[in-house]
Amino acid sequence: MTASGRKKLILTYVDSLRTDMLRRAIDDGRAPNFGALVERGVLIEDCVSSFPSVTPVACAEMVTGVGADRHWISGMNWYHRLERRYVEYGSSLEATRAFGVFRALYDLVYNMNLAHLSPEIETLFEQLDDAGERTACTPYLIYRGRHRHEVSLDGLLRRAVDATRLKFRHHTWGPAELFYGDLYASRQTPCKSTSIPGARDPYAACCAVELMKEDGFDFLLLSFPDNDNYSHRHGPGESVESIARADDCFGTLVEQAGGMDPFLAEHAVILVADHAHTAIERGLPLAEILGAEWSVLQPSEERPELAQLAVSPTSRAAHVYLLPGEGERADPAAVGERLAEIEGVDLVCRMLDAEGAPLYRPEPGMPASGDEWATVERRGERLRFRPGGKVVDLRGGRWEIEGELGVLEARIEDGKLRSDSYPDPLQRVWSALAAPHSGDWVLSLAEGFEAVDWGGESHAGGGSHGALHAGDSLGPLLFVGCGPESADQREQWSLRDVTPAILDHFGLGGE
Ligand SMILES: [Zn+2]
Repeated sequence: MTASGRKKLILTYVDSLRTDMLRRAIDDGRAPNFGALVERGVLIEDCVSSFPSVTPVACAEMVTGVGADRHWISGMNWYHRLERRYVEYGSSLEATRAFGVFRALYDLVYNMNLAHLSPEIETLFEQLDDAGERTACTPYLIYRGRHRHEVSLDGLLRRAVDATRLKFRHHTWGPAELFYGDLYASRQTPCKSTSIPGARDPYAACCAVELMKEDGFDFLLLSFPDNDNYSHRHGPGESVESIARADDCFGTLVEQAGGMDPFLAEHAVILVADHAHTAIERGLPLAEILGAEWSVLQPSEERPELAQLAVSPTSRAAHVYLLPGEGERADPAAVGERLAEIEGVDLVCRMLDAEGAPLYRPEPGMPASGDEWATVERRGERLRFRPGGKVVDLRGGRWEIEGELGVLEARIEDGKLRSDSYPDPLQRVWSALAAPHSGDWVLSLAEGFEAVDWGGESHAGGGSHGALHAGDSLGPLLFVGCGPESADQREQWSLRDVTPAILDHFGLGGE
């Protein structure tokens, strides 16, 4: 129990966990621990992810309770307008190499938390730290908290840093206990840190067990990232294997407590996926396609002012940016028309003003003008919407809508907008477009397609995620010993509900 007499809480996140695959793993007897949790908890089978439905955006959403318009993390790759460069968090090893290992690591480890994540919001860790709860986190992309941590330069990173002869010695701010592989470890453990896929779940579980031995947390974020890599390589239909391994790792915590009953007597658990996963047949080389007509900014461009467009592939979504600069600029109408006709592009989203003209995009932190409409185009049909009208979405948001609902395969019943194909579409598209680092266009790709990253990689033959589509977006959210009495408490659950539920558990709810 915590000092305030509550159960400790473990937020367990399995990257890319699909509800049907979780069920299959349980039914096949491959995930007995998750099965026991499902039996005793409240399972929401269709918790909706962020858009783009990729890990940096979704992880930010999970521990801030807000969308990209407020947390500012827009994708796995995005273009930094002020710095005139791409930010790459590691779409693939090849993409990381294309931007330089040091630069990409620096963006991933420091900048994501200390520069890119909005300073105007508080993370779950910061709020719990302020309330005096003992926070802890195994490797997770968004970890900003109130405690200072010194970098430890061991292993793989030390070699990378030595090789680049650069100093990589900054402290960071995280939860009280922070374990981040080679970089940060708030206490000595026997846990072997490695960035090799398949060995990261055991590392996280090992750190968690060490903390349990010392009664070292009130709130722990326990991350199981390996299922994502496995699903990318082998396809989402094969993921029983990697779910079984995550379950096995979770079992070491249960074992440490002396079994499931004593474990749950002491701990509440939330089990959640950041997004789902779909099968990929083809890579979409967006930068190459647009590069045939416009000059597209390359990863290490000497003179970025000459490029007309920036292209940020982010798995099954992408941002396309109009660049200011020297010489002839790209015609926005021509770019928009070209994007809409590319095979593999499903939705073309853009923020326009009331007259349909492109908007000046404010710098981070500047308020929007209030005059914007989000437009979504699909197969020549168009829909536009903005907050504040008569139509209500399944999460209670109100919208003014004009155009073809068919664009989002949506219908309005009793004043409520529903779409089985694109869950929570209005809020998610709005938040993607209103984010300060959003592209001038945000694309959601068609089934079977994934945008080729800047390293030339895609997961054709395997799986991926990122689109607005239900297949990418709906995953499990399970509450055991905390959260709602029933899944019916909300019509549509989302990752944004995770942080409020945790704050509520610690008596900090009620905003
Ligand atoms: Zn992934």
